[in-house]
Amino acid sequence: MTYPIDDIRADFPILSREVYGRPLVYLDNAATTQKPRAVVEAIAQEYYSVNANVHRGVHFLSQQTTTLHEEARERVRAFIGAQSVSEIVFTRGTTESLNLVATSFGETFLQEGDEVLLTVMEHHSDIVPWQLLRERKGIVIKVIPMNDAGVLDMEAYERLFTPRTRLVCVAHVSNVLGTVNPIARMAEVAHAHGAYLLADGAQSVPHFKVDVQALGCDFLTFSGHKIYGPTGIGVLYGREALLEQMQPYQGGGEMIARVTFEKTTYERLPYKFEAGTPDYVGSHALAAAIDYVEGIGMDRITAQERELTKYAMARMADIPGMQLYGTAPDKDAVVAFNVKDIHPLDLGTLLDRLGIAIRTGHHCAQPLMARCGVEGMARASFALYNTKEEIDTFVAGLERVVKMF
Ligand code: PLP
Repeated sequence: MTYPIDDIRADFPILSREVYGRPLVYLDNAATTQKPRAVVEAIAQEYYSVNANVHRGVHFLSQQTTTLHEEARERVRAFIGAQSVSEIVFTRGTTESLNLVATSFGETFLQEGDEVLLTVMEHHSDIVPWQLLRERKGIVIKVIPMNDAGVLDMEAYERLFTPRTRLVCVAHVSNVLGTVNPIARMAEVAHAHGAYLLADGAQSVPHFKVDVQALGCDFLTFSGHKIYGPTGIGVLYGREALLEQMQPYQGGGEMIARVTFEKTTYERLPYKFEAGTPDYVGSHALAAAIDYVEGIGMDRITAQERELTKYAMARMADIPGMQLYGTAPDKDAVVAFNVKDIHPLDLGTLLDRLGIAIRTGHHCAQPLMARCGVEGMARASFALYNTKEEIDTFVAGLERVVKMF
């Protein structure tokens, strides 16, 4: 069956707008994706006709929003193959999910001198929370290196383990290099050493089928806005046995069973980690986004995006002075690059005037920039609605810009 690109693009009204009088070519999807009508309508409909605070409300609307919210949780559970809805915690996004684990897992399971392994390609949101914990508890952070293609050094990884290693945190897909890291193998190694593994799925869950049980990870994080859902909602998957033991992250309404001034007992999972009014409209809209991608089919989306990535890399490689970063055999829909000694900010600004949106800078991965010996890079990243014609426009734009220098 051919990929229904015209129908798909018609679902995203923003894609037909112009910037600076030119058709928009949106290649900043790793930062955030555009939203299909189905998601925007789910939000509007909920506010127009259902809205009420969830949980414990006896009235009709409250029960209806609660049902939608809990159905969304079940939708997320099925999407990532978790065993139980108790393992699905709604958060504000990947960043909050990672901070939750650093705080609550850190509080419960980590002592001074315990070791956490991170990869050199982690996003700042999977580095800084661990550094904050290091300041509070004196944990030790160790870094898994990679080769020049952007592939993790698995031998070095195994050598980093000691009896004090407790947790490995790894981006499932690098937001800069596009490398798909071998989570299943890494989790096996971690478990063999008595450690746990957290996969940051911010850049994997939107692009290919992710099944937490097949991966064997203990935690998985992702953001709604990177998978065509709304901003402000995200997910933490955690193994029930771990979440059960972990300290709450924040205190407040929703997360308690009983409160007295002497003592508070906590709600059952996953509510123990969801203090305050949750983003029940966001959860419902995230479920609509999941319905949308599954309606197209994750396998078809992956095939389409991988094809685009290969095509883009091949065309870009022909530009004189092009340096591509991240050439791992298993690579997802991100292409980071520099051309000649043109500052990436100049590249991005000039392409923008041609209607082409890319991202430039350190991509919240300054240690990775240091490993690559640069201050910044330009990055094009693809989504299910991008086309080869857009890549051609992008490459033509790049050629035009490069000639100016
Ligand atoms: N992890 C990775 C790999 C990312 O690419 C991003 C966002 O770019 C994040 C974490 C943080 O996601 P958010 O800003 O949605 O919390």
